[in-house]
Amino acid sequence: MRAPREKILKEAAILRSSFPDAKCTINFRNRFELLVCTVLSAQTTDKRVNLVSPALFSAFPRPQEMSKAPLEEIENIIKPLGMYKSKAESIKTLSGQLEQTGWEVPGSMEGLVRLRGVGRKTANVVLAEGFSVPGFPVDTHVARVTSRLRWHSQWDKPHPDPAVIERELCSIFPPKSWISLSCTLIEFGREICHAKNPECGMCPLMELCPFVKRG
Ligand code: SF4
Repeated sequence: MRAPREKILKEAAILRSSFPDAKCTINFRNRFELLVCTVLSAQTTDKRVNLVSPALFSAFPRPQEMSKAPLEEIENIIKPLGMYKSKAESIKTLSGQLEQTGWEVPGSMEGLVRLRGVGRKTANVVLAEGFSVPGFPVDTHVARVTSRLRWHSQWDKPHPDPAVIERELCSIFPPKSWISLSCTLIEFGREICHAKNPECGMCPLMELCPFVKRG
């Protein structure tokens, strides 16, 4: 069974105070850059994306240029990020798709998830950071941490549905807190509650977590 609402709220408050500076750290100057960088941030960190994005946008500043760029040139720039071949293809293709919306980034979930390489997680980041529309991005860290803490009903499934996690978390927390809580959970997952060997001994939720590994 899912953890009681009061317990979830208490644990979230503890995490917030433990990671007060957690936030999206992608550098961007416009919504196109935000969209591209968020796609590039899959399976890597914002910091690494920030290292390659200046060269990328200097070479191809707008979707018009990115859509016509030779794939190998994009690949060469983003190579340090890993998965660079599929990411290069995604950002080139999605840039071309933006022609249908007058070269503007769509401001809706439906419009965003139609773009190549954009899932609900990426769309929620773009909506929250680029359009001030509340969104709760659920990535692999958020899914893992909230399963261990039993914050959603699919906590015992090996592959819980991110859309279900998103819907259930959104029903517990107020919209204005969604994006920052997602960032907090991501940082907590990266720093302490790792996929392998979570550092339970230094976890602020050690006394509350049903998954805790002692000793
Ligand atoms: S006690 Fe361990 S498993 Fe539970 S939330 Fe903390 S780090 Fe993760």
